[in-house]
Amino acid sequence: MDIADVRGYALSSPIDPVQERPFHGGVRRLRKRDVVLVVVETRDGRQGFATAGASSSAMREYFEGDSQGTFADVLEESVADALEDESIDEITDAHDLIAETNLPAHLRTEAISAVDVALYDIRGKELGAPIYELLADEYGTEPTTEMPLYASAGMYMEPEGYVEQAEALEELGFFGYKYRPGIGPDGDRRTVDLLADAVDDIEIMLDVHTWWKLGEAYGRDTVRELVAHAAERGAYWIEEPVEPDDHAGYVELAETGAPLAGGESEESPAGLVELGETGAVDFLQGDVRHHEGFTGCRDAIEYCDGRDVEFVPHNFGTWLGLQANAHLVAAAPDVRLLEYPVFEDDPALDETAVDPGMYPFELAYDIIEGQPAIEDGHLTVPDGPGLGVDVDLDVLEEYPFVDGPWTEFHYDDE
Ligand SMILES: [Mg+2]
Repeated sequence: MDIADVRGYALSSPIDPVQERPFHGGVRRLRKRDVVLVVVETRDGRQGFATAGASSSAMREYFEGDSQGTFADVLEESVADALEDESIDEITDAHDLIAETNLPAHLRTEAISAVDVALYDIRGKELGAPIYELLADEYGTEPTTEMPLYASAGMYMEPEGYVEQAEALEELGFFGYKYRPGIGPDGDRRTVDLLADAVDDIEIMLDVHTWWKLGEAYGRDTVRELVAHAAERGAYWIEEPVEPDDHAGYVELAETGAPLAGGESEESPAGLVELGETGAVDFLQGDVRHHEGFTGCRDAIEYCDGRDVEFVPHNFGTWLGLQANAHLVAAAPDVRLLEYPVFEDDPALDETAVDPGMYPFELAYDIIEGQPAIEDGHLTVPDGPGLGVDVDLDVLEEYPFVDGPWTEFHYDDE
């Protein structure tokens, strides 16, 4: 592949009016969601696509504020300099070229992730094959193109609100309902109890994404007690119950016997494997958009294969990112489940009594032509060449970048 051009487009999907979500000890404001659309073009005119920045980790959201817009500049400057006019035999050659830039480590990783996905898209288009076929060849597997989805929604609501969402998503056939607690220890405990009583066919996952830790709102003992309680009430997993780099904290909580999940915030493929090696997590959550693409997720997938830990991709963002992770699930050994973020007015889902969407994120849908094939809580991966989706470039006009952080936290004691 002769690389002619690398471009990045920072886009914003406004949340209008701005939403305020009270949590224990403060309030969170949601203003917009940012996405960087990455386009790599070869000399023979083929284009490969990827997204970046649609979901930075919980910690990055909090500590780094607005890093999305500038990532488009990183692509058009350092990354374009490193790749343009280069001839790439193996996709990993592009990893090596980006690794030689003097970008900070986390930006190199983010850039490698996006370029890896875009180059697989191009390679698939060259060969006339979907990415899952290329990956299945690499892994020596038979692809499974239909996969169960778990729904990712609920953020700081009254306990009854979570229950309404879970019931709607159960009706739609989703494998699981993952929600974000954080309304206070009593409310969080009550939510778990109400959910356990209300639903039968849908698994319940808690995405704690460290809120229990931030601002020292919950003490360690409370966290341990809540984790144990959720496990007792049958939670399928409890995700990021401590800060992402607190591997010792994971190990301590695993002693309760509760099923734990984590990995999305790991800053490298090696970090993902290290979290797996602690033996503390039952579910390891790599993401092609953050862990060096299809190539980078491979070490963690191979680590999990045959062990008592399941690789379940973290997936939070647009339908383009969804399809990228879906190709991985289709091909990777022992990987079967995919996260499906539910936003308001999702056109791919049937109507339910209550809209289970988290907030509006129109760009998540509009970035591709058509919509994913979802039925009864299962996604069928598109079988066209590459990612198998057409990007709708009208979004470049329709979703101009809006400056500033997408979300803000305000604490009561500030
Ligand atoms: Mg999460």
